[in-house]
Amino acid sequence: MRILDRLLTSYRKRVKPYLPSSVRGLFSRALDPSLKLRGMYDFWRVRPGVTRFLGPQFHRNRRVIGIALTYACNLRCLNCDESSAQAPADAQMSIEQIQSFVDECAAADYHWNLMEIAGGEPTVHPDFLKIIDILRTYRNRYSPQTRIKVLTNGAGDKVQQMVAQVPEGIEVENSNKSGKRPAELKHSTFNLSPEEVEGYEKVDFRNACEYTYRCGTGLGPTGYYHCPVAAGMDRIFEWNIGRQSLPSEADDMEDLAERFCSKCGYFLKELQYKKPLAKQLTSPVWQQAYDDYRTRQAEKLVTIDAGPSATHAAAAGTGVVSPK
Ligand code: SF4
Ligand code: SF4
Repeated sequence: MRILDRLLTSYRKRVKPYLPSSVRGLFSRALDPSLKLRGMYDFWRVRPGVTRFLGPQFHRNRRVIGIALTYACNLRCLNCDESSAQAPADAQMSIEQIQSFVDECAAADYHWNLMEIAGGEPTVHPDFLKIIDILRTYRNRYSPQTRIKVLTNGAGDKVQQMVAQVPEGIEVENSNKSGKRPAELKHSTFNLSPEEVEGYEKVDFRNACEYTYRCGTGLGPTGYYHCPVAAGMDRIFEWNIGRQSLPSEADDMEDLAERFCSKCGYFLKELQYKKPLAKQLTSPVWQQAYDDYRTRQAEKLVTIDAGPSATHAAAAGTGVVSPK
């Protein structure tokens, strides 16, 4: 199964974006039988009895970290897994948080193979280039083997101008979206909580999904998580349960997987949940979560208006980003 995963990941990253849509359709039909088989295996694999016997299927990747610099984005994709479209906000990591992250890594002599700088759209962070510089300085001084990669949607002049300023030695993965073609704004089922889906009442959510090793440990404004998607989910649910310091090698973060994967559509194993959706799908649990989030944001705005004691709320970020 791992080999199938690797082949699929390489295809999605290196081949699929460059294929014309007619050829992409042919490939995806050809892959359907193996993906169906994979879905059946995964659905069986997350049963509590099987998990007790074999242990969780996916483990947190300790060598890759996905850093969500900001939840602001210049696009509004359907089913965005950072909720940048469903609940836009300018919540972002501060320079101090990035500095403290690299200081922690240096103090612990911790070496990542890969740091992926993502969002939202990372280049819209007002201190994007300064943050890249902090990470690059850390890499050059303490961890020359660490690759640093910016993940960008590449959409619009402003984003392209920032991408052009990324210094040498920093990789860029550009999905080259225009923001105008509907196909590039579609994503698979995210806002459907497995707890609401028949057959998922009794599964072991500590199994997580392939993102926990493919995208690595997550770091966002509220801490470290077992995957980058969970960091974005905690912005909405506000459980505030991310680790507050660099997790130890022994920490699989299964408690976080148990909470977040039970709400995350990426946990759903069947093929129909893996295909890009032509519309936004928001289940009642997620709708409630977004409603609660908006209410809290509105309350924070009122608090900010009320006086200077509300600096914490202001720092959390509440503004809507205008699409470019
Ligand atoms: S480009 Fe990415 S972060 Fe932005 S809305 Fe689309 S999926 Fe979300
Ligand atoms: S939170 Fe979602 S993306 Fe992250 S490991 Fe769980 S199911 Fe996968």
